[in-house]
Amino acid sequence: MTISLLSDANQRLEKALQYVTIDDDVATRLHYPKASLVVSIPVRMDDGTLRVFQGYRVRYDDSRGPTKGGVRYHPSVSLDEVQSLAFWMTFKCAVLNLPFGGAKGGITLNPKELSKFELERLTRGYVDAIADFIGPDIDIPAPDVYTNPMVMGWMMDQYNIIRRKLVPAVVTGKPITMGGSLGRETATAMGAFFVMQRALPWLGRTPAETTVAVQGFGNAGAIIAELLYHAGYRVVAVSDSKGGVYAPQGLDIPSVRQIKNANQEIKAVYCTGTVCSDVDHEVISNEQLLELDVDVLVPAALENQITSSNAHHIRAPFIFEVANGPITSDADPILEERGIQVFPDILVNAGGVTVSYFEWVQNRSGLYWSLEEVNGRLETSMNRETDNIWAIAKDLHTSLRTAAYVHALNRLGDAIKAKGTRDFYMN
Ligand code: NAD
Repeated sequence: MTISLLSDANQRLEKALQYVTIDDDVATRLHYPKASLVVSIPVRMDDGTLRVFQGYRVRYDDSRGPTKGGVRYHPSVSLDEVQSLAFWMTFKCAVLNLPFGGAKGGITLNPKELSKFELERLTRGYVDAIADFIGPDIDIPAPDVYTNPMVMGWMMDQYNIIRRKLVPAVVTGKPITMGGSLGRETATAMGAFFVMQRALPWLGRTPAETTVAVQGFGNAGAIIAELLYHAGYRVVAVSDSKGGVYAPQGLDIPSVRQIKNANQEIKAVYCTGTVCSDVDHEVISNEQLLELDVDVLVPAALENQITSSNAHHIRAPFIFEVANGPITSDADPILEERGIQVFPDILVNAGGVTVSYFEWVQNRSGLYWSLEEVNGRLETSMNRETDNIWAIAKDLHTSLRTAAYVHALNRLGDAIKAKGTRDFYMN
């Protein structure tokens, strides 16, 4: 049976609601996305044929400000997936206290099958279709899986053409020369790194004693693997969609990145090029990576990787969710019973949207910040909310995930209540 991702996401909400005193109106509002747009995008392909792609943009909740969220290009994109991702964005922005609500977008396709020309035409077609749904004060897209600064640049450019003026704050994650922020490309991984560094002493560890496996070697996964490597952690396994490598003595992550960039697959690592040397390694599957005997597991690929089917086999005592929704709600209690501590996605990967917020602020003020300023502000925000969530979990005796939802719910509840709930009108 396929579980709806949105109902799965809502189960986390239900659980957190048991721990907050909140008006029923707030809970009712948060169960439904505010607006969901489904569009058909006709694209002239390089061979002259016409293909029509299905695209989505969902604005989940805007009680705390304009909505914010990435755009994903992937074959598994569906309305259900986009709605769930928009739901998570709502909570993530509240966890970090950003003045934004949550949104998400996507197009169902395998971007690797399209030429660069076709991808550009598709992206511009998508913006044509959603132009009235987005805007710097309405909804602000950003990169997600298989979209990057170049794609964001095309999106901004197309929006400018439609509006006949420059509107850099309409998307974030843009190339630096088009108004992007320094530090945005590394922000998701950097934010996750700050959370991990903050929590490590609480977990009674030091980087040198900590082995790590990272699933997914894209923007988020490859950068966090490298940050951890440089901070002295032993990154023993990494993987991408085609498989992974495992070396108990630790991988030389900068070389793995170099080879991945040259060969486009992790499997080639250590088997070609200069690092095909003396490192003893195994080629493993993604399933095997998740079940390795490591201290920290970092899922940084896609959702639904740890479910009730494999949760019993996970051996890492700590999981840091860099991907959105890598653990299903039915796996949560299994991991909890087994004493596995999960640092949740709505905190761990919030660095991306936090620096997106910084980019939006810079675009609107016209004043641009140094990399040190961006990373310094990011570190302050991530540390503050990691401390808050840790304290709530201790106080309420809940998992860190429930604590993060409670934290977000309190902020969302205040915003929704400020406009009047049953309590206000009926008393
Ligand atoms: P990306 O496109 O840069 O990389 C995705 C990586 O996952 C690639 O290495 C791909 O090969 C790998 N992958 C795909 N399917 C896989 C599978 N079945 N098993 C293992 N690996 C697989 O994407 P990204 O931006 O790094 O995003 C990764 C995750 O992080 C997503 O869940 C995304 O929503 C989340 N995230 C990203 C950002 C951001 O700013 N990039 C922010 C917040 C959350």
